[in-house]
Amino acid sequence: MLPERIATPSLSADMAVDTAIIGAGYTGISAAKRMHELAPSDEIAIIDSSEIGEGNPGRNSGFLLEIALANDADPSQLDRMRQCNKLIAASLGKIVKTVENSSIDCQLKRMGTYRGAAGRQGLKSLHQYAAFLEAAELPYRDLNREEMEQHLGTQFYQRGLYSPHCYLAQPAALIRCLADELPDKIHLFENTPAISLKQSSGRWLIKTANGEISAKKVMLANNAFAKSLGIGMSQLVAMYTYAGITPVLDPAVLQTLGSDTSWGLLPTHRLGSTLRKTEDGRLLVRCLYAYEKEINSALVRQELSRNLVKRFPQLAKTEFEHIWGGAVGFTMNGGAVFGEVKPGLFVSAGCNGGGVVKGSLFGELLADLANGQPVPDISALFGKASWMPPEPIRSLGFKLVSGLERFRGQAEI
Ligand SMILES: Cc1cc2nc3c(=O)[nH]c(=O)nc-3n(C[C@H](O)[C@H](O)[C@H](O)COP(=O)(O)OP(=O)(O)OC[C@H]3O[C@@H](n4cnc5c(N)ncnc54)[C@H](O)[C@@H]3O)c2cc1C
Repeated sequence: MLPERIATPSLSADMAVDTAIIGAGYTGISAAKRMHELAPSDEIAIIDSSEIGEGNPGRNSGFLLEIALANDADPSQLDRMRQCNKLIAASLGKIVKTVENSSIDCQLKRMGTYRGAAGRQGLKSLHQYAAFLEAAELPYRDLNREEMEQHLGTQFYQRGLYSPHCYLAQPAALIRCLADELPDKIHLFENTPAISLKQSSGRWLIKTANGEISAKKVMLANNAFAKSLGIGMSQLVAMYTYAGITPVLDPAVLQTLGSDTSWGLLPTHRLGSTLRKTEDGRLLVRCLYAYEKEINSALVRQELSRNLVKRFPQLAKTEFEHIWGGAVGFTMNGGAVFGEVKPGLFVSAGCNGGGVVKGSLFGELLADLANGQPVPDISALFGKASWMPPEPIRSLGFKLVSGLERFRGQAEI
């Protein structure tokens, strides 16, 4: 949906740098920028297995939350939540500034976000989130079914909540914009997957198809795939989730999709669907989770369509223009994999589905840590990824928990 972009060349020879970063997503790019700020004369290389905007960082739904996600929000821990929100808001502020100074149109707007509850579980979680917002003295609006329908054009939700603390963006444009603003001194190699990582004579060696990078420090910012390089194996799983977008809809159909020209809605259950009406008049839906393995695209298309039509029966005959999937690094308790795991080897992984702003924050803090700067206690503030049992118990546990959650949250899915 964006204009053509020429990728930077892939790595084609051996090189030695001070810091190498694996993964040019939100985490990796902000880590690279911060490293350069702190040590401007250092040589920094950042590699990505894909192309900027084509891979995972460009495949999200474009919600940039200024405050805790509903499932993170805890009214009994307001001090901690306030500190988290302050850090997140500062990171988001930097993203907004970068976008403002860029010629790339990221369609970034502070639209706020709706949350909608269709059934009992959804109502319970909406109620908890409202309690958190109230305790934190953050503004929100409560909406009944008729008001939800008026704003969004669907009768699907019994109750809703609108919170202004969210930006919406075109995610592929956003990651292009952030990568574009990397200082020239930073070497970016696209289409360069790290195949292995090892330590030798006090340096880290990253093997890629056509060259090896030798670095004093390495930062792993490849989220779900950190474990393929041997890190976070007992903490991380890769979950695939999917989205589809319609063509630009007829004005007559658009008129039925609520009074707001564009809007975003987040689910009240973790297996629920995310929805957006875009500025240019399309609907986007995100749903489904698959454990460690991608789902067949015909099934994905069918499920996405079913979820959309359930909410908007007027779209029964509309085909998606594009569908896509992305891998998300999940941890069992939602905590992060963050820190120096071996001397000179730093990692930030496990975005748990909401890592555009949080990843940008953690990337920056990882660079601070690697440069001996003071860093807030990430584990205490955002949680620390807990241990997961190995396979096959892990996948059995996943099937059990997701089956139970699916049953509980079926009205929201
Ligand atoms: C469909 C979908 C919708 C989502 N919606 C939202 C949303 O609205 N808001 C939100 O905040 N989050 C959302 N997410 C999650 C969001 O995309 C992630 O949280 C975010 O991208 C995390 O950023 P990151 O930089 O930490 O990791 P990633 O974006 O996963 O980036 C990691 C990078 O590492 C690269 N990489 C992986 N392995 C290697 C390797 N071996 N060598 C070199 N490079 C490698 C990848 O190509 C990738 O570019 C969504 C995700 C999906 C899939």
